[in-house]
Amino acid sequence: MRPVMDSYEASAFVSFDHACPRCGAETSMRFMSPCATCMAALRDLMEREASVVDAEYSPKMNVTPNAVASKDD
Ligand SMILES: [Zn+2]
Repeated sequence: MRPVMDSYEASAFVSFDHACPRCGAETSMRFMSPCATCMAALRDLMEREASVVDAEYSPKMNVTPNAVASKDD
């Protein structure tokens, strides 16, 4: 039987001061990540509304029939 892994200790991850990798501002977080201001800015930048694409999908046939498999005897 595989040993069950103990749940991690959340308290082991304490906030530490580091410079935001994007803007360089001093921030304190549990993991290396952009500061809250940059996170909001990135979210604004990356988020897009779902759009309806007006195109019909027609798969391209790349496979050619196997000459041996389709051979009539
Ligand atoms: Zn930042």
